[in-house]
Parts: sequence; C-alpha cells; structure tokens
Amino acid sequence: MVSDETPIHVKNLYEARSISEFKEDLDFLLENYKPISLLQLIEITQNRTKLSENYFHLTFDDGLKELATIVAPILKEKNIPATFFINTDFLDNKALFYRFKESVLVEKYEAKGLLDFDSEKENEIDELAVLLGEDFDEFLKQEQPYLNSEDVIELIKQGFTIGGHSKNHPRYENISLDEQIAQTIESVELLVEKFNLNYKVFAFPFTDDGVGREFFNKIAGKLDLTFGTAGLKKDVVKNNLQRIPMEENKKGIEIIKSQYLYYFFKMFVGKNTIRRNDK
Ligand SMILES: [Zn+2]
Repeated sequence: MVSDETPIHVKNLYEARSISEFKEDLDFLLENYKPISLLQLIEITQNRTKLSENYFHLTFDDGLKELATIVAPILKEKNIPATFFINTDFLDNKALFYRFKESVLVEKYEAKGLLDFDSEKENEIDELAVLLGEDFDEFLKQEQPYLNSEDVIELIKQGFTIGGHSKNHPRYENISLDEQIAQTIESVELLVEKFNLNYKVFAFPFTDDGVGREFFNKIAGKLDLTFGTAGLKKDVVKNNLQRIPMEENKKGIEIIKSQYLYYFFKMFVGKNTIRRNDK
C-alpha cells in the first residue's frame, strides 16, 4: 500500500508507505540493482542463467486500487516493471478480505481485540458486523478499495504483469491440500483466461509456511513461478522464489541491509534454504 493517507481497511493492519518514501525506496533500488520484467525473471529462473548483474523485480499483493492510481504512474515515470497479484474473489469489489473487514470494524467501533481473529473466524466477523449494523457491501460500493477489470486491462496495456494471489486469501497452512490447489490453480486460470495472459504466476497469500512438497509436486508444470514472502532465502523448490516483504515501517535501504546481514549470518549455520515436509 502506497498512499499519503492509509485507508481505514488497511490502517489497523499496517502503515502505508508515503509517496515520498516510496520514491526514495525506488531510487535506492535503481542505484544498486537493475529492474527486470516478470518474463525476464521467468527466463532467468527456468534456464538457471548465471547472473552478471544484480537485478530486482517488484511485486505488489492484494490488488488494491492504489496500484492503479498511485503506484503504476510512479513506476511508469521511473520505467520500472512490476507484477500485481490479485485475489480473484475480490477483483471488481465483489467481496472484502476478512483482515480488511477487521480493520474497518476496529476503526469504526474501536474494537481493538478483534485483531486477534484468524481465518477460521471469518464467520464471526460477519456476525459481529451484522450486530454492529456494518454493511460491507455498502463499504465496497462506496470505497471501491480494489482494482476493477478495466483497471487491470489498463495496467496490462501499460506493460505491467499480473498473477494470482488465491481466490479469497486464506492461510494455506490452515486449509486442506485440495483446497490449496484449487485456490492456486483456479485463481491463476481465471486471470489467464480473462486477461489473455501468456504466463502463469502466483504469490502465496500471507506466507507459504507449512506448504509441503506434495503441493508443489501436484502443481508442477502448471505455473511458471510461485512466490513466497520469507525474505532473502533460497527454497528447495526451484521455481518458488522468496520475496523481501517491504511492509515494515522502515526505509527500504534498512530493510534490505538487515536482510543481507541476516542472510550472511545464517550462511555459517547453513540455514538459508527453506526445506519442505513431504506433506
Ligand atoms: Zn496478500
């Protein structure tokens, strides 16, 4: 989320990066790394190309409208490619992510304890909303927090790439293997068909923690790349790339420096590769 004013559906979860902070982060990245497109990243990963330079590829999760109104124009100006990962149930403002519902309720009713809710409690959030008289359909209509299909078409026209982020953003370690696969493949396929994409990529909602080898075996060959959020790390699954999360309330340069420090420190104890259980 990049905005000078954090909207209420995000405000109680994490703080948005201001526009000037975002631009500063981009300048730091451009000074030290070369931006590459998703298609270049897919090619480099699949061919195991030896890299002669330091590259970066930017990605943004959750498909919020600020991607079209704030982020994309800045990236265009600086000529930086990026990929946007979309939850297909939320595209076109059809539904609201349960964490965003929590943030809205906390903001409007000062119900701080709510943030302890987890994914299995989604029904309880909806019940509470009814009790409080909060109408999320109305909220979606009024605020239009997500991108709509026309926005996505426009972003693709501008050269940006898109991928699946599951249907409704569940925590994968809490759902069955069949449900993990359905959430993954169906969200990607829907986008590929709707927007005529010639690549298939997916970013795990929340984290890929607890996602076992069996999942990756079952989806093998169906997607070009998948993305986790474990930071600067390798993964035993070669086309599952880990990303550095930038939601922390620190400058980009500080986040990236501490990721390197942590990486070099763990190099000595051999803990830089994510291993996965069979199931
Ligand atoms: Zn997400």
